[in-house]
Amino acid sequence: MSKKEVTCKYCGRRLVGGRALKDHIKAKHKPQYLLMTVVPYLVIVLVIAFASAAFLPQYLEDLRNRNTATEVNVNPEDILNRFLTPTDRLIKHIHVFLSIRVDNQEITIPPGIGIVGGREKYMHTHDDSGIIHIETPIDYPFTLGDFFKVWDKRFDENCVGEYCGNVTVIVNGQNIETPWNYVLENQDNITIEVDTGK
Ligand SMILES: [Zn+2]
Ligand SMILES: [Zn+2]
Repeated sequence: MSKKEVTCKYCGRRLVGGRALKDHIKAKHKPQYLLMTVVPYLVIVLVIAFASAAFLPQYLEDLRNRNTATEVNVNPEDILNRFLTPTDRLIKHIHVFLSIRVDNQEITIPPGIGIVGGREKYMHTHDDSGIIHIETPIDYPFTLGDFFKVWDKRFDENCVGEYCGNVTVIVNGQNIETPWNYVLENQDNITIEVDTGK
């Protein structure tokens, strides 16, 4: 391959080949040569610095979340019995509306379920409105059955608490077959009906 004739863009001198041009610039145009060789590295270093500044906090956050997410492998009963601490960072705070009707009579869901001595478990009630609060620092699929575990009430195909009979569970207008396994979603509207046959 024959060497191409090139022109120095700083002084207009004609040279043969890229190598000769580079040597010429190095010898005759020192500041431009430095700019040419150093600036690309500087740009790379700056880009890396900016990228780190922008993404490092998010990366560390993700790492921390991954650590808490692995806690899903721990015993579920343990998660249900844990209390929130002031240092917990909530990754989820959702509300579910629960209504329990026994023979068409509304049963009051008491306030303070999952609250002991002012300390809140991840699932709890604040008042008797039937709103279940799920405030959790870990990513865990809390179910309707979990709420009854926190409440310490029976919930299966035959009984809800002390009320036994034909149990029907409607979630957002749909009948649910195995409601104890239903994973609660924000703003779910849940009605549990017990027909005791009396
Ligand atoms: Zn809440
Ligand atoms: Zn709360």
